[in-house]
Amino acid sequence: MSEKQTLGFQAEVKQLLQLMIHSLYSNKEIFLRELISNASDASDKLRFEAINNAALYENDSELQIRVSFDKAARTITISDNGIGMSKEDAIAHLGTIAKSGTKEFFGKLSGDQQKDAAMIGQFGVGFYSGFIVADRITVESRRAGQPAAEGVRWESEGSGDFSVESIAKANRGTDIILHLREGEDDFLSAWKLKSVIRTYSDHISLPIKMQKEEWDEEKKENVLKDELETVNQASALWARSKSEVTQEQYDEFYKHISHDYSAPLSHTHNRVEGRSEYTQLLYIPARAPFDLWDRNKRGGIKLYVKRVFIMDDAEQLMPVYLRFVKGVIDSNDLPLNVSREILQESRDIKAIREGSTKRVLGMLEDLAHAEGEEAAAKHEKYATFWTEFGQVLKEGIGEDHANKDRIAKLLRFASTHNDSDIQNVSLADYLSRAKEGQDKIYYVTADSYATAKNSPHLEIFRKKGVEVLLLTDRVDEWMLSFLSEFEGKELASVAKGGLDLGKLEDEAEKKQHEETETQFKELVEKMKAALADKAKDVRVTFRLTDSPACLVADEHDLSGNLARMLKAAGQ
Ligand code: ADP
Ligand code: MG
Repeated sequence: MSEKQTLGFQAEVKQLLQLMIHSLYSNKEIFLRELISNASDASDKLRFEAINNAALYENDSELQIRVSFDKAARTITISDNGIGMSKEDAIAHLGTIAKSGTKEFFGKLSGDQQKDAAMIGQFGVGFYSGFIVADRITVESRRAGQPAAEGVRWESEGSGDFSVESIAKANRGTDIILHLREGEDDFLSAWKLKSVIRTYSDHISLPIKMQKEEWDEEKKENVLKDELETVNQASALWARSKSEVTQEQYDEFYKHISHDYSAPLSHTHNRVEGRSEYTQLLYIPARAPFDLWDRNKRGGIKLYVKRVFIMDDAEQLMPVYLRFVKGVIDSNDLPLNVSREILQESRDIKAIREGSTKRVLGMLEDLAHAEGEEAAAKHEKYATFWTEFGQVLKEGIGEDHANKDRIAKLLRFASTHNDSDIQNVSLADYLSRAKEGQDKIYYVTADSYATAKNSPHLEIFRKKGVEVLLLTDRVDEWMLSFLSEFEGKELASVAKGGLDLGKLEDEAEKKQHEETETQFKELVEKMKAALADKAKDVRVTFRLTDSPACLVADEHDLSGNLARMLKAAGQ
């Protein structure tokens, strides 16, 4: 047996612990959800590795989670017979934070405890949440397939450091022992623990077992029996029929798979039959993760094959522009030993991706275009969605040709119709307000709302009462190169070319324009000569009403804004 070693936590862990203990105290029972969630993940991992190596089960293939407590010792223990940890695993996983988005998260901490508390939930609190109620945690574990002598004991008081030592452990898997803080004795009750488990962990597909308790008439108190009982429903939530699952259970399941603290905006749950058979349970989160713009980030979909967990982040299951979607897909057709490489080629996966894309767009349409009773609440949810993920959805215009029209209907913009930078005008709203004879959808692009709103190009449109969309997101220019029309109406930049107002201009105005052009012909010629190497052309303009002059891009040239962006990017 080796010596006990003491090691320091990674700086981020110390920071996280401090923050968590102070800010999550009012919601402290979530520690149980987190530890049960880890036990469930560990069992999923074992089941997956055992597909190719059944010996890992060591004649104990009934995976389960046990929760127990010891009143005298003031401890709660969460045990699993999942994959377990080696000493190296324990040092690496229980001493550092390896989550994606860690850097972004710590970068955003403000020091304002309330604000940071709201963020920490979104980051996902995990194992360290045990320290909210415990002033010491002991972890005893042995990795599946390792000899009994290769167990590990990890222990920490949740401040600066932790210790590890080798121990003998007969059973594979992990025991997490929480030594409760003073004043947390509420949790030393079967009733209390069961109620927390049913609230937060009912969706866990493994049985969560506790010792049965019975009222003892003589002792006048509850006593523990030798029998175990299963506290949760213990079946995969997505495999249950919709009518058996409550909204709360759907929400808790979302939190389990997404590490998000707040409830999702919407979900869709379907069993798909036909050429390809699968079940999908997909969610739209209410908040963007820290790493939404991280290019290395994979998708948010967990892949199962016939209830067996296969992989996290299966990016082939969802197009990139829907990378914010979280959920589970359980296929009946794929082989259990499917790899990422096989996924890339698979026709089944292609069918699943197409089907899931349609479902997600359907979910968004349900929020965006809702009518009737719940319309207002749903529209509000769509507004939240748009604020968080609108820029990502716009990528779909260029990326998903087959669904372009559906996505176009989901776009929202700021416009001169509203005096605000809130993006809430759809292309259909715009067209419903179009002027008699207006055959185009006008827009201006700029790098900020203020610049767009004050653009001199808008003057003539204001005068004529014609609405103009104000586009200020980075992806807009790129998106517009794929979106030339909507419902037969051309999208036209107000800053490009010889502005053709078409039927919006009446005969008298046309005549007046011609006269003005003749009147200024000489001046224009002089200016052209003077600006010969600076401007392509000089024209009399009718697009301005107050400003004396403005620069415009040629019809087929890059717009001024895109040219500025490319220049800034060094091109
Ligand atoms: P996350 O679950 O998001 O990875 P946690 O803080 O909850 O983050 O857990 C950190 C890591 O510790 C896990 O990824 C896993 O490697 C390891 N771990 C925690 N609990 C267990 C367990 N019961 N069995 C095996 N490994 C575990
Ligand atoms: Mg976890």
